[in-house]
Amino acid sequence: MHIDEVSHRSVISGCNFKIGMINVAQLNLYTHLLLAGNNFIRFARKTLPFRAEKDSADAAGVPSLLFNEWPNFITERSFCYNNAMALHTKTLRTRVKDKHAKQLSQWAFEVNQVFNAANELTANYAWVPIPGVGYMNCNTSEFDLNKELRGIRAERGLTIGAATVQSVIAQHAKSRRQFKKNKLQWRCSSGSKRALGWIPFKAAGVKLVNGQIRFCGEVFGIWDSYDLSKYELGTGSFSQDARGRWYFNTTVKVETKPGEGLAAVGIDLGLKTVATCSDGEKLDRRRITDEFAERMAKAQRANKTHLIKTIHARIKNSRQDALHKFTTTMAENYGAIFVGDVSSRKLVKTRMAKSVLDTGWGMLKTQLEYKAIARSVVFEVVNERNTTQTCSCCRSISDSSPKGRVGLGIREWTCHECGAVHDRDVNAARNILALGHERLAGGIPYLCAQAAAAG
Ligand SMILES: [Zn+2]
Repeated sequence: MHIDEVSHRSVISGCNFKIGMINVAQLNLYTHLLLAGNNFIRFARKTLPFRAEKDSADAAGVPSLLFNEWPNFITERSFCYNNAMALHTKTLRTRVKDKHAKQLSQWAFEVNQVFNAANELTANYAWVPIPGVGYMNCNTSEFDLNKELRGIRAERGLTIGAATVQSVIAQHAKSRRQFKKNKLQWRCSSGSKRALGWIPFKAAGVKLVNGQIRFCGEVFGIWDSYDLSKYELGTGSFSQDARGRWYFNTTVKVETKPGEGLAAVGIDLGLKTVATCSDGEKLDRRRITDEFAERMAKAQRANKTHLIKTIHARIKNSRQDALHKFTTTMAENYGAIFVGDVSSRKLVKTRMAKSVLDTGWGMLKTQLEYKAIARSVVFEVVNERNTTQTCSCCRSISDSSPKGRVGLGIREWTCHECGAVHDRDVNAARNILALGHERLAGGIPYLCAQAAAAG
């Protein structure tokens, strides 16, 4: 349903709205971002300008937002989606005590059996022969599978719950849709191609009792670093990592807290420094792989599989730790974040592979995005072409600016046009910031018209 079809005023999934006007208080969707002198609201993952209408403030004094033009991409669906965004979902991961590994591994084995049984059915009945015609593609639905595999627990003497069987089938159906395949990879329970243990559950299947998880008639001790009693546990899974440790993953609803920052920042991703901000802040690269290289080589020579896995896990952890600290600070201190569109996949193929992996650009972008969403902060990726060469003061490409391969080593340069002295990366970050502002203004018809009228 398109919003234009809604009568003057409707109530959809508990929120009131009027055409052309959104009441901030009712919506729980509030971003008062002051960007480039305009008010913006983050809506349907897009950025819209609005002006607050003072006359129509509600009892709490929150003004309604008046859009000059009703954005045509706001449909009922995006509305609900965004309403849900005010309460965003987060996955919490807590470690399960090792003494439960045996029980969990047993269930993981059973889960694999169910998964493979579902896989066999969908693969075998993917093409149904029709005499005289040929074959017809037949998509076995999740519903059909549930019916077919209703007796699997009794048949094979499985001890996992019926709800878990359903969750496995649901995940199988979801993956089939995602990969557009009738047959997925088998889940092996042993050998080198062994799938890491995974036991899905539904929200109703788990309960927190005295700091322990009750699931399927058993009680599991966890290292509860989040104080799970504060949350309502949602669907999730028990999962195993490469070291054989088990984790309890659950989705919880957390209220979106708008960030306090109002300023915008541009971030340049690089190799020498992982990220440089337009205000001069830098995230330096730690040569994490190098730090562990010696120990890793030693473990590999001695063929110590367990130690190798431990070192891999530690490399991963320390890489993530530095990134998390940086991205959280960014999302908390700024109202808008713009990042250049470097494709780390492209660079991994070149000789720079190892250092690109170390810096983890992909991870950095992903983290920035979800942390920005959680705080209603604007996040945009902009085309970073020419951002290194262009002078951020006068916007000209001076003949002294770093260019191409030769320019890779130039860290600092002076613009011949205006005489400004630039740090290479900070200059690039400033250009990215300027591009971000342009992008916000450029993508919105209302602002374009305003700019045209002004100019
Ligand atoms: Zn200049």
